[in-house]
Amino acid sequence: MAPTTLENAFSTHSTSTAVLVPGKPALSISYQKLAADVKAFQQQLARVGVSPQSAVSIALPNTYEFVVSFLAASWQRAIAAPLNPAYKQSEFEFYIDDLQSAIALVPKGAFAQDAAAVRAARKYNAAIAECYYNGREVVLDVKETGKLSGNGNAPVESAQPNDVALVLHTSGTTGRPKAVPLTHRNLLRTMKNIQATYQLTPADRTMLVMPLFHVHGLLAGFLSPLASGGSVIVSPKFSASEFWKDFIQHKATWYTAVPTIHQILLKSPIPSPVPQIRFIRSCSSPLSPKVFHELEKTFKAPVLEAYAMTEASHQMTSNPLPPGKRQPGSVGIGQGVEIKILDQEGNEVPQGKEAEICIRGENVTKGYLNNPSANASSFTKGGFFRTGDQGKKDPDGYVIITGRIKELINKGGEKISPIELDNVIAQHPTVAEAVSFALEDEMYGQDVGVAVVVKDGQKLDGTTLKTWMADRVAKFKLPKKVFFTDIMPKTATGKVQRRLVAEAMLKKDL
Ligand code: ATP
Ligand code: MG
Repeated sequence: MAPTTLENAFSTHSTSTAVLVPGKPALSISYQKLAADVKAFQQQLARVGVSPQSAVSIALPNTYEFVVSFLAASWQRAIAAPLNPAYKQSEFEFYIDDLQSAIALVPKGAFAQDAAAVRAARKYNAAIAECYYNGREVVLDVKETGKLSGNGNAPVESAQPNDVALVLHTSGTTGRPKAVPLTHRNLLRTMKNIQATYQLTPADRTMLVMPLFHVHGLLAGFLSPLASGGSVIVSPKFSASEFWKDFIQHKATWYTAVPTIHQILLKSPIPSPVPQIRFIRSCSSPLSPKVFHELEKTFKAPVLEAYAMTEASHQMTSNPLPPGKRQPGSVGIGQGVEIKILDQEGNEVPQGKEAEICIRGENVTKGYLNNPSANASSFTKGGFFRTGDQGKKDPDGYVIITGRIKELINKGGEKISPIELDNVIAQHPTVAEAVSFALEDEMYGQDVGVAVVVKDGQKLDGTTLKTWMADRVAKFKLPKKVFFTDIMPKTATGKVQRRLVAEAMLKKDL
């Protein structure tokens, strides 16, 4: 029978290593040991009083402790709520309050240091526990029982397919982060889709470099490979030199990352011979065709760009493995889901025409937590979820994202795709990175601004760039203003926030 909850999604019969944490010595955990450790941690959670559908905030970095506590919370019918351990106190407060967390899990030593997560949890009376691996099992060391004090010894539970297993917030790229509840059923559907898209097997060794507190790392880099019976190499933090060392030493077969990480790898010393890579997956931000080609040439592996969002438990579309066609600049085709390009009324537009990308599938959330107005406007009458992204399909059905609806530059009614401009400018030989955004404009309402990072040791001025662009894009798309900057502001997951880039450039310009 097909598994319906995270608890039975993993094969304890797999002979592969389940989790490998690099280090000296590296920690190598079999599937049997992982299952035993998760069960033991689940019992500890029950003993503290963690009951069905209460939120367990996990403020741990990518470690074995994260792996075990995340799985144990979901087995216990609780809701795992991973948080970026690097958040400041006010950020922890926002998330812990939003979810009414029952308990916050923090690293060893956080209590003595009175860390930000500890202070935030205390403010909302959540229990606080340090987690650490003592060489035998993962220990839940409760420091404060908070609101769980009268609640000890909850029974050990068994999760149901429609229980919420995970709540993550959206990245907050276009506004305030929204809380997205995802059920076991939602997650298992994505895991199945990802397994099928990339033909993951027990022979695969996945190099996990993305953080586990977002769907990208959690679903594509961790849960899906684990459900395939393969091994996951959990690196604590991304660094280019460690990446290749671990990749080669632990014989990884593939990795998934945001474009920023691919670009860092391209700039770092490349091992020789280049390790054999089955494929490279790129997701979460647009991958420019230029970087796509550089990656394929350098690493001699197919590069598969995918498209994902928190509300869809991560993946929606992907380019297929060979012999399927890869289309640079496109995020590929729907994988186990329905993808349609719909107008405001929810009607499908003719092929090639741009409108909103919409998705329907078992992986999609039923709706945001405590956000009726967003829920009312997020679904069409046909049950499709509105992604907020603008796009179109090519004649083969491949999806091309042209921008976020909220970020399109509206120049006197003429809609300009910032992604299209970024890709054109990135082809200029002295440009390292370019981000386009809307500038307020008296005449047109909005006009085009561009922030440009120039390659090390090179020079470029705005007029030269505009003259070069004039041969490549229509005149109305030429930037009104070009801003030069040394670093491009990004979110923790390497995403460009056009709004913030615009603010930063205008501030510099004063
Ligand atoms: P918020 O919803 O709070 O504004 P967010 O949309 O960035 O933040 P996520 O769920 O992390 O939060 O990201 C999903 C979005 O990321 C998608 O809607 C899309 O805009 C963008 N995205 C994902 N993959 C790609 C891709 N391959 N190319 C371009 N954009 C992508
Ligand atoms: Mg979003």
